[in-house]
Amino acid sequence: MINNPLYCQADALQLVPAQVDLHCHSTCSDGRQSPARMAELMAEHGVQLWSLTDHDCLTGQQQAMAASRALGLHYLPGVECSAKYGKGQVHVVGLGVGLVETGMPEAMQFLQEARRERALEIDRRLTKAGLPSLLAAAQLQAAEAELGRPHFARAMVAERVVKDERQAFDLWLGAGKLGDVKLMWPELDQVIAWIRESGGRAVLAHPHRLKLTLTKVRALVADFARQGGQALELSVPAMDPQWQVNLARDAESLGLSYSRGSDFHGPTPWVKPGQALDWPTRLPGVWQDMLVCKP
Ligand code: AMP
Ligand code: MN
Ligand code: MN
Ligand code: MN
Repeated sequence: MINNPLYCQADALQLVPAQVDLHCHSTCSDGRQSPARMAELMAEHGVQLWSLTDHDCLTGQQQAMAASRALGLHYLPGVECSAKYGKGQVHVVGLGVGLVETGMPEAMQFLQEARRERALEIDRRLTKAGLPSLLAAAQLQAAEAELGRPHFARAMVAERVVKDERQAFDLWLGAGKLGDVKLMWPELDQVIAWIRESGGRAVLAHPHRLKLTLTKVRALVADFARQGGQALELSVPAMDPQWQVNLARDAESLGLSYSRGSDFHGPTPWVKPGQALDWPTRLPGVWQDMLVCKP
C-alpha cells in the first residue's frame, strides 16, 4: 500500500494545527452542506488534511474524496459511530476506515437499522407525552440522510412545537430527556473492533461534551484504551484547557494519541472548519503514521 500512488504518509506533510480537521458532517447525516461543498469549505479555511465523519454512514466518502482530489486536499476516509457505554452513549470517530472488502458496510447497516428503530421509539415516547407524531416530518427533514435527533429537532421547529432547535434539545431530545434513546446502539468495544478490523483508528470523540465529570471521563478514557481505543479528540473547539492538560496526561500514560476536529455541521457564528484548540505538544497526532489519500 505504501507504494500505492494514491496514498502518502501524513507525517511527511508537516502540518500545523489549523491545517488539520478530522471531524465534520455533511447532508449525508446531520450537516448542512454536501460532501463536495465541505471539501470546498475546508480548502477556503486553509485546511489541508481532513475527514468527513458523518454519523453512522459512509455514503459521502466517494464524493468527499473526489472533491478533495480536485482541490488538492489530503483526505482520510472517516465515520462517527454511535455506541453504548454503561447507561450512556459515546461517539467514536473512525479514521482511515476501510470502505470496501471489510466489515464496515455491514457495521453501517447495523447502525442504520438501530437508527430506524430508535426513531420509532423516540416518536413513541414523545407522542405518549402528548406531542404530535413527528416521525414523518423528521423523515422529511432528513431526506436521504440517516435519521437522527437533529432531524426531530428541525421537525419540532417546523411544526411549531418549540421555538428553535436549541429548545428542542433542551426540552425533549438532549442528554437525559425523553427523546434521548440509546438502547439500540452497539457496545463501545464492538464499535472499536469494527473500526480497527477495517484498518482504521478508533478515536473517542469530544470527551468534554459527554455531560460527565472529569473523573468519570477519565474512567471512560481508561476503559476506551483497554478496549482497543487508540486516540482522544483533544484539539476541539471548546474544551476547558485544564481538561485538555489532564486528558493529555492520561493519553500519554495509556499510549493514546490525539486527534483534532471542529465537528463542523454547517455555518454558525461560533465554529468554522479547521477551528479547534491547538494540540497538546507531547502527544503524537493520530494521523501522523497513517496513509492519507493524495490529491
Ligand atoms: P444523534 O446522532 O441522532 O444521536 O444526534 C446527535 C447529534 O445531535 C449530535 O451529533 C449533534 O449534532 C446534535 N446535538 C446533540 N445535542 C445537541 C444539543 N444540545 N443542541 C443541539 N444539537 C445537539
Ligand atoms: Mn451531529
Ligand atoms: Mn458526536
Ligand atoms: Mn460529530
